[in-house]
Amino acid sequence: MKKSIHPKYEKAVVKCACGETFETLSAKPNLNVDICSKCHPFFTGRQKLIDSGGRVDKFKKRLERK
Ligand SMILES: [Zn+2]
Repeated sequence: MKKSIHPKYEKAVVKCACGETFETLSAKPNLNVDICSKCHPFFTGRQKLIDSGGRVDKFKKRLERK
């Protein structure tokens, strides 16, 4: 096994917009993501998107108007 191929990868805490935190390996100690495996509909199988600032509602209303 070769060592030191990659830059220093350490345990990083990833914070998701849904409040979920999990650990991963990264060169950065802290990461922020908008979506994670806990809240992504692809993983959960249901619609549970984080609606920050009612953007989804506005989008839906715009569609309904047409
Ligand atoms: Zn999440």
